[in-house]
Amino acid sequence: MPRIRIPAIRRIGIEPLPNHALSTALTFPHPTPPAPGSAIEVAPGILWVRLALPFRLDHVNVYLIEDGAGWAVLDTGLDDAVTRAAWDALLDGALRGRALTRILVTHFHPDHIDGIKTKDGDKVFRNAEILVPEPEWTFWMDDGNQSRASGSVLGYFRNARRIFGDIANEVHRFTPGAEVVPGIVSLPAYGHTPGHTAFSIQSGKQSLLVMSDTVRNPELFARHPDWQPIFDMDGALAVKTRRRMLDRAAADRMLVEAYHFPFPACGHMIRRGAGYELVPSMWRPL
Ligand SMILES: [Zn+2]
Repeated sequence: MPRIRIPAIRRIGIEPLPNHALSTALTFPHPTPPAPGSAIEVAPGILWVRLALPFRLDHVNVYLIEDGAGWAVLDTGLDDAVTRAAWDALLDGALRGRALTRILVTHFHPDHIDGIKTKDGDKVFRNAEILVPEPEWTFWMDDGNQSRASGSVLGYFRNARRIFGDIANEVHRFTPGAEVVPGIVSLPAYGHTPGHTAFSIQSGKQSLLVMSDTVRNPELFARHPDWQPIFDMDGALAVKTRRRMLDRAAADRMLVEAYHFPFPACGHMIRRGAGYELVPSMWRPL
């Protein structure tokens, strides 16, 4: 993935906080992120799990949704030693011995799909059904598109084939905009990639908006939704999507999460000036 220029983030990250966020910061100690392999319940039947150590200022947040048969996971993280150890700890502990039954994919960037397979080509979760957005599949698995790609994007094409090529007939493709599994609705969120997809999940009286990479970082792209990170493939379309998602999250008072938000990575969006502010959720360890 393209690297963010860290000094720029640090400067922007010390912008004054709104009063409510400041009072939260004063009242509660800054939370220490739990170790990889631990989980937090953010709503009934919805677990946030920590798979990776922060890389510089980056984070990987994976959500697990309890369904009738087991757990559905939204994106898988990477395939590295920390992630594998974290999954082992989770499957033995917080997941209460229940298996992963479904993998729902938001888009085909490597940090979202690499955990589907080991580097030797074996499926990590052998019995899990894999569900991917149809437009994402169509774009990345198209040979003509690949032949026109270069640099890191060409690497993403090759990686998508490494992950999905020999299991294509096992991958269920869905059209974003409808219920994918009971209680989980897919939402077109195109721009970051051609088929990038968000999810809305009902949990009791709450609903969680899984924005994935629609908003990469709250200090930058929620406060300034019109800013275009270089890793959005269609910057103008991604801005439209980002504004639509943030507007819905604020208007409907949904819980939100995004794949790369810093801990606790879950909260509510409020309007502030021309942008939005993330109010992080309270949380409790399992
Ligand atoms: Zn991405």
